[in-house]
Amino acid sequence: MTDEPLNRIVIVGGGTAGWLTALFCARLASMADAAPLSVTLIQASDIAPVGVGEATVPPLKSLFAFLGLQEREWMAACGATYKLGIRFVDWRAEPGEYWHPFFRFRGDLPVGLEEAHIWLAARERGDAVAGPLDRVCLPHIEACDRGLGPRASLDGPPALAHAYHLDAGLLASYLQERAVAAGVVRVIDRVDDVALDPESGDIASLTTQHHGAIGGDLFIDCSGFRGLLIDGALDEPFESARQHLLCDRAVAMQVPGGRGRGSIPSFTTATALRGGWAWQTPLYHRVGAGYVYSSDHISDDDAAHELRDHLGEGARDAEARHLRMRVGHRRRSWVRNCVAIGLSSGFIEPLESTGIFLIQRQLELLRTFFPDRGDNSGLRDAYNRRLGAAYREVLSFIAAHYQPSDRRDTAFWRDATAAPLPEDAAALLSRWAQDASALEPSDVFVDPIWSSLSWICVLEGLGVKPGRASRLYARLGSDSLAEALRRSAERSAGTLDELADHWELLTRARW
Ligand SMILES: Cc1cc2nc3c(=O)[nH]c(=O)nc-3n(C[C@H](O)[C@H](O)[C@H](O)COP(=O)(O)OP(=O)(O)OC[C@H]3O[C@@H](n4cnc5c(N)ncnc54)[C@H](O)[C@@H]3O)c2cc1C
Repeated sequence: MTDEPLNRIVIVGGGTAGWLTALFCARLASMADAAPLSVTLIQASDIAPVGVGEATVPPLKSLFAFLGLQEREWMAACGATYKLGIRFVDWRAEPGEYWHPFFRFRGDLPVGLEEAHIWLAARERGDAVAGPLDRVCLPHIEACDRGLGPRASLDGPPALAHAYHLDAGLLASYLQERAVAAGVVRVIDRVDDVALDPESGDIASLTTQHHGAIGGDLFIDCSGFRGLLIDGALDEPFESARQHLLCDRAVAMQVPGGRGRGSIPSFTTATALRGGWAWQTPLYHRVGAGYVYSSDHISDDDAAHELRDHLGEGARDAEARHLRMRVGHRRRSWVRNCVAIGLSSGFIEPLESTGIFLIQRQLELLRTFFPDRGDNSGLRDAYNRRLGAAYREVLSFIAAHYQPSDRRDTAFWRDATAAPLPEDAAALLSRWAQDASALEPSDVFVDPIWSSLSWICVLEGLGVKPGRASRLYARLGSDSLAEALRRSAERSAGTLDELADHWELLTRARW
């Protein structure tokens, strides 16, 4: 072993994870005065990528900025649209909806949190409130109702926090073009075997069908659910999350979208169905749709049928793609000189669109804990601890979308609501059950992904009330509370006045 810098990174897999990783590593290689670093990506032409990750969360912006991608250019190339949040339909016994919007932050606090606590205090007091918490305290839902995007024009900062919807196939091609232009070597071939160094147990080389053995210093497994290196060669155990989340299959379809003012929703829809839930992600040129379900509760054919019924006429002739999902994560995603990134590392169902976000977290951790050719065990442990914490948080947050629901109409919903909550989620819910202001994710999670306001939107949306409202706002009289909510409504109206039609905004960006 030597402390020399490593010079060769070899990535297996050309899906979203593989090409994001390749471009990321190319950017690291291009840092001024860096030691030489070659990046090779091996991609099998006969194994299709999953190709369904189309809804994202706001941090994607900072990843794309690091990769040097210009919003206007990549959005047009990937048929992308803006996403202001997620609309959850029929997740309770009574038909209805609730929202999880994206928030801007002032310091560490999300804009809207204070209003949410005021709303909770007003309700506790028995005062009339003008609607549900998410609608009264945040402008997003009204913006979505009116078909607005997050900004007035293409220039200047957005008035509302947002993420994106994007075409996964187009994104992989776009990233590939940029990565190859940045010096990444692309090998179209299939990896058939993995040779381990007999002394160290590290990966020494990959045996390909047509290009012989390809050696490297660091191997990145982006081979999808199969986990060719991390599982096939290194045998790292997988920790299933099936006891908390029942869904293990998906069926995906593409359906036509709208054209013209007000025609492209600026939100993802997640509708609860009989055996799971269906997504709809509106792109510029089509809508991506799918049904995530439990194979213990509904057959593949019945799921495709139910999804077609749900989507209506546009889905009558749509091709159905059936996918198996392995829900959980590797005990360690970095083992020896192999880092698994993307689906090979883990997957928690896509209800909060966290697949690409977890790839981003992995890449940022890799940058922080970047190894050399010496003893990297400390870096590996730190990486695995931090990533494990991210998986635990995603699992907790997603499980909290099911278990508290009062839906019991099918066997799936009876089982999903009886499944145990992960410990961390149970801890947060018990704080909420005592006191609204005690729900603080940073007490439970390291570097939390979601703020307390996200948890409040979901719990309130599912009808789970806090034990008590914040003592600070409970001190105020009804008039003060009503006045604060009125001022918040005024601010929301001002924000809405600043926003342009979503379709128009996207169409203008293409000129
Ligand atoms: C139903 C569903 C819905 C999802 N929705 C979202 C969402 O809305 N938002 C989100 O962020 N994420 C979502 N995801 C997750 C997202 O799709 C993935 O995180 C993302 O696509 C990354 O996949 P990947 O690149 O790890 O694997 P894959 O796309 O499976 O790519 C694997 C690659 O490895 C290659 N390969 C495999 N074996 C070999 C071999 N032997 N030799 C050479 N190459 C090989 C394949 O050719 C392929 O290129 C969803 C996932 C599923 C299953």
